[in-house]
Amino acid sequence: MNTTGLGEANGWGFMSVPHEHVASFYRHERRDAAASVIGLDGRAHAEICVIGAGLAGLTTAFELARRGRRVLVLEADRVGWGASGRNAGFVSCGFAEGLDALEAQVGPADSRALFDLSRLGVQYIAETIVSANRRDIVGGRGGLSLVRTSPGDRLQRRQERMAESYGCKLDVWSREAVCEVLATSAYFGGLHDPAAFHIDPVAYTDLMANRCRAAGVWIFEASPVSRIANVGAGWRVETDRGVVHCEQVVLATSAYGVLNQTYRPVDRAVLPVATYVITTEPLGERLADIIRFRGCLSDTRRAGDYYRIVGGDRLLWGGRITTRRAEPARLADMLRQDIQRIYPQLGSFKVDYAWSGLMGYARHKMPLLGQIKQGLWVATAFGGHGLNTTAMAGQLIASAITEQDDRWRLFTPFGLRWGGGPLGRAATQLHYWQMRAMDRAGEWRSRRGRDAKPSAPVISDVQAGP
Ligand SMILES: Cc1cc2nc3c(=O)[nH]c(=O)nc-3n(C[C@H](O)[C@H](O)[C@H](O)COP(=O)(O)OP(=O)(O)OC[C@H]3O[C@@H](n4cnc5c(N)ncnc54)[C@H](O)[C@@H]3O)c2cc1C
Repeated sequence: MNTTGLGEANGWGFMSVPHEHVASFYRHERRDAAASVIGLDGRAHAEICVIGAGLAGLTTAFELARRGRRVLVLEADRVGWGASGRNAGFVSCGFAEGLDALEAQVGPADSRALFDLSRLGVQYIAETIVSANRRDIVGGRGGLSLVRTSPGDRLQRRQERMAESYGCKLDVWSREAVCEVLATSAYFGGLHDPAAFHIDPVAYTDLMANRCRAAGVWIFEASPVSRIANVGAGWRVETDRGVVHCEQVVLATSAYGVLNQTYRPVDRAVLPVATYVITTEPLGERLADIIRFRGCLSDTRRAGDYYRIVGGDRLLWGGRITTRRAEPARLADMLRQDIQRIYPQLGSFKVDYAWSGLMGYARHKMPLLGQIKQGLWVATAFGGHGLNTTAMAGQLIASAITEQDDRWRLFTPFGLRWGGGPLGRAATQLHYWQMRAMDRAGEWRSRRGRDAKPSAPVISDVQAGP
């Protein structure tokens, strides 16, 4: 055990453990050499123990500490090791679940209230970046959500509905307008969201971790939680080498929590879904010639493509989903071919980075957010729409704990439903393949000038925004 004076004085110690991040464009660019982290070794006390140092956990911890609470964070691997440090960086309003489905479940008034909360998350990220004077974290502005089948009047109707029911201003882009900025015939038009932007998610996660530390939060990495138990009026949280006694617990472990078998009632409600990202070598003028839009680009198919320009002249491209745990052997080739299908004129190019990440989904595709037992809170299952929604969740949970703010109750209709275990995973995978086949059929019909059936995306929320 490697203890320090401060650790001993508080009754617990530190251990320094070597831990590597997943290799990605973001990490490489940062030349992230620090591979030693501080883990919990011994006994500690806190008012609130947050489990998971992704953006859900970090935002919650910071918002609690800012309100004067003594907070300790336990992270199984490293800060931002999960989806928060691997995502595409698109920030926009909305949830993984579409607004039509949301309205059908909770009615128009609550659906609007939920959407407004999701918008709060977008504002939070923007304000955090501005107040820290870190505008370098923002890589581009605007989001273009593209359709790959003839839309008819679908885009206009969507635009009107978003304006009337959600106060959200979107612009319809015709096929010609899209072709002016993207040299491809793959898209039949799009909706432009001027409020969307994209960020370097690792820089933002590091910023949140630094804000936490500055506000007095203790963050222990390499400290996987193995047991959470109710003891008297409080909670006992165990790791392999330490234990935390606290009044309240916030579980923010997402899909990786399921893999770590953190807390069964929550784990069984979260379905881990993998998605993939690559970054090309620098492409120089070739890229500028074919992609002249610097914001977030995505298509509205189920698990469609999502991409943006990073580092001046590289293409960061994401797509596909699977519920299988193993990373595909030909991951880089698969996504390279996806790019070449849309932009064949790019010719051949090298892929410098390829990585995968797990998103946590509940069956209803809405976040699991709120108090599930006295003093036990969850902030998890944000799916592919987790940047704005984790920022929202951190604020809601902190103000619920400290100020009895009960806005989190808007999420009570979306409770802990069993995700179906291995059968649920298999069913989701089959559903995805079926929807993908339907998308392809629709695109084939559109290319031949026949009307395509409008498609309702299943999991195209990684980027699609509202
Ligand atoms: C490839 C990819 C692209 C994406 N693109 C976008 C995008 O462009 N826009 C968008 O809005 N969303 C996107 N998302 C989704 C978004 O990244 C996530 O929804 C969000 O980051 C979830 O944050 P989180 O804190 O809930 O989970 P995570 O970031 O996964 O963090 C959970 C943390 O909990 C820790 N943990 C797990 N178990 C334990 C345990 N037992 N003890 C202690 N710690 C534990 C993990 O190690 C992990 O660090 C994408 C996701 C992926 C994977």
